[in-house]
Amino acid sequence: MKFPKVDMSDEEACSRILIGWLHPGWPRCPRCRAEGRIRNHRDHPDPWRVQYQCERCGCYFNAWTKTRLQGTHRPPSQILRIMKGIVERKSTRQLGRELGCDRGSLALFRRRIQSWVVSIFGPPKKIHEKPRLQMSFGTRQLELTPFIQPFSRNPTISQDFLERY
Ligand SMILES: [Zn+2]
Repeated sequence: MKFPKVDMSDEEACSRILIGWLHPGWPRCPRCRAEGRIRNHRDHPDPWRVQYQCERCGCYFNAWTKTRLQGTHRPPSQILRIMKGIVERKSTRQLGRELGCDRGSLALFRRRIQSWVVSIFGPPKKIHEKPRLQMSFGTRQLELTPFIQPFSRNPTISQDFLERY
């Protein structure tokens, strides 16, 4: 799955994406899995902060309850940017710098959501070393060419000199 294009300044849109990944069939009770018998307990303009109550088991919950995101104070846009960073194999140091947040707590949060991110997007792509190797091989060939070509026309270049290459 490709990372969705989303306006990172729109927290509500970001939260809708996260809720969609966390809860197919939202709202659903995280304790007894009941759907349909859920009422709004406390409304909030931020969808992830709306508190619901399950009429079946009485459980109070919001979108992050009993998920990897429970207890986080990070805004949905930041959570998405961290997830995108994981998919793109960015280092925690680089992500911390980009988001302007503490590297230690970011590392913990990253560990907490890593397997969830992998379950959505698959394992992060390996960085290929090959193109760099091919490039250095190409450079070496360029270095060799001027020495090899004169040899066929000019036998005064010593064999010893050529063997070094
Ligand atoms: Zn319930």
